[in-house]
Amino acid sequence: MNCKEFEKLIPDFFEDRLDYSSMKRFSEHIEQCDNCKEEVVIQLLVTEGVHRLEDGRAFDLQKELDRRLNRIKRKIRIHGNMIRIGIAMEIAAVCLLIGIFAWKLM
Ligand SMILES: [Zn+2]
Repeated sequence: MNCKEFEKLIPDFFEDRLDYSSMKRFSEHIEQCDNCKEEVVIQLLVTEGVHRLEDGRAFDLQKELDRRLNRIKRKIRIHGNMIRIGIAMEIAAVCLLIGIFAWKLM
């Protein structure tokens, strides 16, 4: 992903609307691109910071960003596991079918 594509995903990231593949590319890019990370921090400050200032609670920007990034990383991990489980179940189903088929032929 390049920086332009990344920028387009930032609003969806804030609204938690990234799909799995965008999430994955988003988190990969932010790890390696300081400019984009900075951009996210600034936008986070603008969108979240204003709300927080209004209700007077303390706002730790770095923590907030980490929290959000960890959330998508966790989702990516869970999704990856689901895919692996799905593949394993498919393989098991195919083996079962082959087993039944072979058993019928005997
Ligand atoms: Zn970038």
